Amino acid sequence: MGILEIKNVGKRFGGLQALSDVNLSVAEGSVHAIIGPNGAGKSTLLNCLVGKLIPDTGSVTFEGQSVLGRKPYEINQMGISRVFQTPEIFGDLSVMENMMIPCFAKRDGAFELNAYGSMMKDKEIIERAEHMLDDMNMADKRDMHAASMSRGDKRRLEIGMCLAQEPRLLLLDEPTAGMARADTNNTIDLLKHISATRPITIAIIEHDMHVVFSLAERITVLAQGTPLVEDTPDNIKGHPKVREAYLGE
Ligand code: ADP
Ligand code: MG
Repeated sequence: MGILEIKNVGKRFGGLQALSDVNLSVAEGSVHAIIGPNGAGKSTLLNCLVGKLIPDTGSVTFEGQSVLGRKPYEINQMGISRVFQTPEIFGDLSVMENMMIPCFAKRDGAFELNAYGSMMKDKEIIERAEHMLDDMNMADKRDMHAASMSRGDKRRLEIGMCLAQEPRLLLLDEPTAGMARADTNNTIDLLKHISATRPITIAIIEHDMHVVFSLAERITVLAQGTPLVEDTPDNIKGHPKVREAYLGE
């Protein structure tokens, strides 16, 4: 059984069946990519995993426990962390302050603005945040204004902030969208580093085939709301159905 099990999931928006009969199993410790043309239902599926949407049918379990009906923060506390399509960081704060917040929230269960002053003097949180910045290869950007960084560095910070919560499953929705090639390659290297150095499972929705084939061990192709095929990258590359549905051949 996989760490994440999706069974017979369906989701309808009015007259549009966005997802139907989605069955997908993500193996613990793997990097699993979900690809498919625009409108295939990838983001809808991800939203069903993190509590933003509730499927009409089917089940979703993480480590054997159902996530359905739970609020996003509850699912986050179960050990699932999500990276958004546009980086969600605090632009007005420094890189270090950004990193301290999830470290604080992880230890104390929540972060409230009135805790800011004590957080800034908290040695344990400072050390933990410094360690995370080091691990993300961002120690030199510690005092930078987060908003002034490149898109790639914002993404790197955001991924680090997710990891500070010590999730066992990291979900990413098109993490390299809108990035220049150099930033994309840096993000690939970062995700490889993360996967190699911690016991984490990564599920990534991605449009960019270069990213998918550089990272994924398994690939599920979603087309019109339903999985078309699931296989290794090598087999997916040559699959006639995939070439037809996805690559438009
Ligand atoms: P993808 O991420 O693969 O591009 P989405 O999951 O965003 O696809 O969308 C799948 C389909 O569902 C699309 O046709 C989209 O227009 C539709 N859709 C997505 N979210 C909603 C919503 N909240 N209300 C109505 N239709 C939606
Ligand atoms: Mg999408």
